[in-house]
Amino acid sequence: MSQPYPFVDPTLFTQNAGAELYIDLAAIVQNYRYLQTKVGSAHCAAVVKANAYGLGMIPVAKTLAKAGCKEFFVAHLDEGIALRSVLDKDYTIYVLHGLPINSEALFLKYHLTPILNDIDQLCRWTQLCTDHNHSYSAGVQFDTGMSRFGIGQDSLNDLQQFNWTIFKPSLVMSHLACADVPEHPANQQQLEQFQAVKRLIPNCRASLSASSGIFLGKPWHFDLLRPGVALYGGNPTPNQPNPMHNVISLQGTIIQTRHIPHGAFVGYGATFTATKAMNLAWISIGYADGFFRAFSNKTSAISPQFPGTPLALLGRVAMDSLCVDITDLPQSALQVGDKIEVIGNHYPIDHLAQQVDTIGYEILTALGKRYHRIYR
Ligand SMILES: *Cc1c(COP(=O)(O)O)cnc(C)c1O
Repeated sequence: MSQPYPFVDPTLFTQNAGAELYIDLAAIVQNYRYLQTKVGSAHCAAVVKANAYGLGMIPVAKTLAKAGCKEFFVAHLDEGIALRSVLDKDYTIYVLHGLPINSEALFLKYHLTPILNDIDQLCRWTQLCTDHNHSYSAGVQFDTGMSRFGIGQDSLNDLQQFNWTIFKPSLVMSHLACADVPEHPANQQQLEQFQAVKRLIPNCRASLSASSGIFLGKPWHFDLLRPGVALYGGNPTPNQPNPMHNVISLQGTIIQTRHIPHGAFVGYGATFTATKAMNLAWISIGYADGFFRAFSNKTSAISPQFPGTPLALLGRVAMDSLCVDITDLPQSALQVGDKIEVIGNHYPIDHLAQQVDTIGYEILTALGKRYHRIYR
């Protein structure tokens, strides 16, 4: 028997999806330009790892390239290979996670720039350059206190064997642990460490700061900045007003409305009980879409038709659905098929994050695969 229906990729969600995720590419460009004005003659790269924090690496990178961004950072080699398919060799693609064993040929083939994170990676890249008698572009990372990636203080002696003639690094970098807390003493300590290790590689461009480091001021800027979250609307200066433009609006479709009496409960676990007769709207977004169950009974939503009235989330967020209180809206104002915004200007990622003790980064990168992503 022949199969009458053509194969459809089950991970593809289109106009029939339960929710729309609007991604404002123009706002990302505005954010990029704003960050560039903060750093004077230094350059802003764009960090587009993790699918541009969930917003779509390809459309985001193409847009930023058009806006003048020349340098991009990803975490994984595979991300770099994918990105290279839309950016020609004039654009530098740095791979933060370094040089996996036996990956040298792929880095050359796709013209990717590894960030070398230990002495072994440095030796292997230098060997490659020696074999080909060519200084292929690569960055070198030093650990200046985070105890994560990069050549540690304990390995600095091993660097004496390098004369940096066969292989000439194109970037020396490190990463700040506490840049979002300006008064944290680690910022000054890491800056001083970085200035010291940077001298080991003379005449090399340097990069220390990501989004929050840009706001620490000029001493932290060096030659290249590596913003990620600020491009996507996250607040790089927590505890102060967000200087960035909001980028996303997540709007779920109402799939059912209910009128319930005083005393009725709502959702799994009966965690909410109506204190009066109420009107509810069930929306097609749940924790399987990265809208955390921890938001249950905590956040609020908005109807684009009635932007002045916050609509509280009632009861537990289920796998595929959540409930909002529409009692305060005019009777029958909202119908099945109407949209409710659960993330956006009224409730930005950082506010959501605060409710459940996490950071905007996690909200963004958790954004689900079942949304219809619409770029504008
Ligand atoms: C993720 C990452 C960035 C971007 O950080 P944001 O805080 O999102 O700006 C920059 N540099 C490194 C090494 C990273 O891992």
